[in-house]
Amino acid sequence: MSDYVKDLMADVKAKNPAQPEFHQAVEEVVESLSLVLDKHPEYRSARILERVIEPERVIMFRVPWVDEQGEIHINRGFRIEMNSAIGPYKGGLRFHPSVNLGILKFLAFEQVFKNSLTTLPMGGGKGGSDFDPKGKSDLKIMRFCQAFMSELFRHIGPNTDVPAGDIGVGGREIGYLFGQYKKLKNEFTGILTGKGLNWGGSLIRPEATGYGAVYFGAEMLATRNENYEGKTCLVSGSGNVAQYTVEKILQLGGKVVTLSDSNGYIYDEEGIDKEKLAFVMNLKNVKRGRIKEYAEEYKNAVYTTIDPSADHNPLWDHKADCAFPSATQNEINEKDAQNLLNNGVIMVSEGANMPTTLDGVKLFLDNNTLYGPAKAANAGGVAVSGLEMAQNSMRVPWSREEVDNRLQQIMKNIHTTCKDTAERFGTPGNYVNGANIGGFLKVADSMMDQGVV
Ligand code: NAP
Repeated sequence: MSDYVKDLMADVKAKNPAQPEFHQAVEEVVESLSLVLDKHPEYRSARILERVIEPERVIMFRVPWVDEQGEIHINRGFRIEMNSAIGPYKGGLRFHPSVNLGILKFLAFEQVFKNSLTTLPMGGGKGGSDFDPKGKSDLKIMRFCQAFMSELFRHIGPNTDVPAGDIGVGGREIGYLFGQYKKLKNEFTGILTGKGLNWGGSLIRPEATGYGAVYFGAEMLATRNENYEGKTCLVSGSGNVAQYTVEKILQLGGKVVTLSDSNGYIYDEEGIDKEKLAFVMNLKNVKRGRIKEYAEEYKNAVYTTIDPSADHNPLWDHKADCAFPSATQNEINEKDAQNLLNNGVIMVSEGANMPTTLDGVKLFLDNNTLYGPAKAANAGGVAVSGLEMAQNSMRVPWSREEVDNRLQQIMKNIHTTCKDTAERFGTPGNYVNGANIGGFLKVADSMMDQGVV
């Protein structure tokens, strides 16, 4: 670590105490960017990095709501408007009991670079609440979403800030949020992405993050003349990203043997085929059940409870060629990374945001793993959100093929940017440096153009 990075990190930690995920995300980026700052002292004197680290605006608000029994609940709502140098703030909303300021700041920070990599005109933001949608009735969900939007609506707008979904925020929640925004503003506008197809949504948006992570993985494999045919893949999570990751892997000839939720994971040695995936989609999206029920339906599959306090996650300890972490942050630690390598994994494409700890990332890089970091590998979701915004502005919807072709092209371009940038800065094959630097340059130059604001 250079002295500059050390000093900067000490400052970040002192100024943002008790935000370990934010420190982690910043440290990974500034390590890469020290390569750029050596070549571009003008960024250092304009203090671009210090400015990128500081959110343009943080909104934190009370969300009081009343359930069907008349009981009053108070949640905390957030929106981090991180950087608008290249477009309106854009990034998801997360509803999960673990949500706090530090987690949302890490996500918003990552989003700035990711959105820049897509080449679309989107700044970075993120938001959400510590509300837990799990096991709640539709009526409770609707009341919470309406209460949340009753404050958020005054801070967002189609040219200001356009939120989307993330953990715990899918089509149902986006619908309730959109309805409330429309009522309060008396305006039908593309204020959220991930909307329903009947009211301004884009085809392929639900699939985009998972498909994109698989497309990015395909590009990485192609650099070694490899593809998915006959490859065994480990996938974590069983939500939106995991489901469409599995769907695309199957279409491209791979086999998937794991899925999980926060309680445990299933291992199905025979592979999760199309029919089993349909069962999972119904289980998770309609019945809102637990992944454990997969092993009750398919007797050959083994269900294992995950102990979050254990020193490793057994899901990552199976023979495989590729891994797609698609659940949450820091789900692969150093030991998990070592297990993956011992089991023959050659490629990791991150569907989730920051799923690998810094030690784990280092191990992948030291072992020449094809390692696609989240801000590149899972950018397909926000890319298609950008395409949804474009369709809303034109008031013309595109076909499935059109959107999917654009998504594939965007993922190819992101891969090329990461690969070429890593080479240009003397670290060939290091997609972490490629993504961080590739995403940073456009934002930094735009900030230089726009003065000190
Ligand atoms: P989702 O549909 O809500 O699914 C999340 C999945 O991860 C669920 O299976 C959930 O299990 C599991 N999970 C959540 N928190 C967990 C924890 N603390 N420990 C273990 N498992 C946990 O959300 P998603 O949209 O698929 O998002 C998954 C990841 O992808 C997140 O990191 C998100 O930021 C990232 N991402 C999403 C998008 C997008 O377009 N949706 C785009 C880019 C990146 P439970 O049901 O038990 O909670």
